[in-house]
Amino acid sequence: MESSVQSMPLTTDIAPRSPNGYSPERLLALRHEMEHLNTIGKRFVAAFDRFQVHRALLAALQEIYSFSACCILLKGGDTFDLFVIPRYPLDATFLGSMIERIASAASALNFPSLDAEQLAHTAYYDAPDDLAQNRSLEESAETQIGSCLHIPLTVENKIIGLLSLFDEKENAFDRDLLQVTTMIADYAAVALENVRLRERENALWRQAELERMRLQLILGSMAEGLLITDARGAITSLNKSAEQLLGQTQADFRPDIALRLLAKSSSIHWLPRLAEIIDQALIGKTVKYQELIAGHPEERVPLTLSISAAPLHDASGMHTRPVGVVAVLNDITSSKQVERLKDEFVSVVSHELRTPLTAIKGYTQHLVRRIERRLRKIRSSPQFATDHGNEPPESYDLRNLYIIQSQTDHLERLVNDLLDLSQVQWGKLELHLESFFLADLLAENVHSVQASAEQHHIQLDINTQTTKVRADKARIAQVVGNILDNAVKYSPYGGQITVCLQRQEAFYLVSVSDQGLGVNPEHFDHIFERFYRVHNTASQPYSGIGLGLYVAKAIIDGHGGQIWLTNNPGQGTTFYFTLPAEL
Ligand code: ADP
Repeated sequence: MESSVQSMPLTTDIAPRSPNGYSPERLLALRHEMEHLNTIGKRFVAAFDRFQVHRALLAALQEIYSFSACCILLKGGDTFDLFVIPRYPLDATFLGSMIERIASAASALNFPSLDAEQLAHTAYYDAPDDLAQNRSLEESAETQIGSCLHIPLTVENKIIGLLSLFDEKENAFDRDLLQVTTMIADYAAVALENVRLRERENALWRQAELERMRLQLILGSMAEGLLITDARGAITSLNKSAEQLLGQTQADFRPDIALRLLAKSSSIHWLPRLAEIIDQALIGKTVKYQELIAGHPEERVPLTLSISAAPLHDASGMHTRPVGVVAVLNDITSSKQVERLKDEFVSVVSHELRTPLTAIKGYTQHLVRRIERRLRKIRSSPQFATDHGNEPPESYDLRNLYIIQSQTDHLERLVNDLLDLSQVQWGKLELHLESFFLADLLAENVHSVQASAEQHHIQLDINTQTTKVRADKARIAQVVGNILDNAVKYSPYGGQITVCLQRQEAFYLVSVSDQGLGVNPEHFDHIFERFYRVHNTASQPYSGIGLGLYVAKAIIDGHGGQIWLTNNPGQGTTFYFTLPAEL
């Protein structure tokens, strides 16, 4: 089928028949006009910056007018930019009047009032050499404006500025040419808007690039290793420190394979653990301070890392699934080394203290027995009766010896705690299991603590028929003793202490409840850490070094039980622990 639309030839020798009645001359004139507009349009389209737009504008206007200067006022938010494009050197008075006229024309356009003086100071002069006409200063000494033309610059019905033409002569701007001039102004407006958008885009891009470089610099100089993955868990970014810790560069990790898959065939023995941490963060969990031995476990102090990882969510918040993970790798080997030295020191010192302590205890005991024997003799002698029961000096010595004995016991408990600490630290806490009745052990403990706690009443509730366990009796007695001692120590105004035993499926649950100071819940997570003390201020001088609960937890953990605490609704605290029942 033949096309009904025929394209119009651009050039032809054949005189066209005019279907709409235009004369051939008129048609030729129209064609020239269109070609002219096309050339002008192309110049504007090709303009890359605002100065090229100015040249295109000047070239287009020069073809239809002779004028002294062309000015462009552009509105950018609340500010204005004025570009003055003279065609030859202008007189200062002429320039001043031009700017005044622009300011008053702009206010007619509903632009906020413009200060002509300020505009004159901030105006840009753009007088390209090649377009400037050679005219001497004398010739251009004209100070009066003969005529002017203002045309709003609009883009999509929005006024973005004002185009103004000035000339020294009167009636320089032909009304008949107004339509063409408006068309040129429209071209210029679109071209200037494009330049503005391009400039803004470039500025944003430059800003983003600067930020990216700054971030790169910060990440590069961080002492901590930083690792970023995508949503599948494949490494997308590694900083220098992370590369050093891994002993590999980013290029060694394929960006399309998840770390968990790479870890399977990797020579880095701790990579699977790192991959596990990343996978946890990928399902939305934040992992904090996971310690990981990255060096050879046989080394005295192997390279140890503390790893934290958090899911990355995109800024839009549209996706609930993380778009990646950011992990921080901290080398904590030196602090581990210091910790180890400290532990070794504590272990050696507590061992060394034990020998003289045992001697002091032994000799004190020996002296106590001797003086007790002597006192018994004195008190039963006839001489004592004639002295009317006056206490002999030996009874004073005995009282002092009792004080030495009790203080030595206290010192022994401290040294034992420190020895236990070393054992827990080195994983050498030995448990000697035997079968016994938990109820009996609790009763013995309650009895001995009650003997020295006059202000307190300790009650024992056994709510179970069978109470048999297979455990290290001395160690469990140590746990109960510690919890009971604390219940007394941290209830300075006395009160009721209740020890309760009950069965919970395969476990026995022991609880020790007091009416004392209580523990702020913010400490619950830390109270079982070594050397952690809650009531440690000068205003609350309770003796202790914060090891009892740490060791108690290690003992209960070693038996497969659990230990925790809650605050009582009224006042005070309840400590709980569980032990597996013997079947
Ligand atoms: P300490 O030698 O300091 O008593 P523990 O490890 O036995 O060490 O206890 C740790 C800390 O827990 C104590 O310093 C104390 O602040 C707090 N605490 C323990 N038991 C109680 C309790 N029954 N009531 C209030 N605070 C307690």
